[in-house]
Amino acid sequence: MTTGSCLCGGVQFAISGGPPEHMTHCHCSLCRKFHGAAFATYVGVSKGKFTLRAGQELLKSYATPNGTTRTFCRECGSSLFWANEELFPTFASIAAGTLDSDPGSRPTGHGNVSSKAPWYDIDDDLEQHP
Ligand SMILES: [Zn+2]
Ligand SMILES: [Zn+2]
Repeated sequence: MTTGSCLCGGVQFAISGGPPEHMTHCHCSLCRKFHGAAFATYVGVSKGKFTLRAGQELLKSYATPNGTTRTFCRECGSSLFWANEELFPTFASIAAGTLDSDPGSRPTGHGNVSSKAPWYDIDDDLEQHP
């Protein structure tokens, strides 16, 4: 069981069923803005393994022009979830920085590398996808 929360602690969630099957870095410009960081790291699980334990009323979502939805805590502003209901309707994607314990997964690659921040150089050997 992996648990996670936002900065203020109002939003609490849990991931069951062992280590999340996906963990990747995304370098797209939307993730960069949403996280205020060089890139975003997400863990991905099927929705059945994700449980929101507290803070439903604090969740606010922003729909980006490219069809993704970004959900954050309206109290503290923490970047929490990414979704694309059209392409990945059964998939929950969670910002790894909000996890409170080691999920057991490790990043497997970098996505959207073609739009990465010019001031950040990838210096690991993980797969890179344009
Ligand atoms: Zn919060
Ligand atoms: Zn992204």
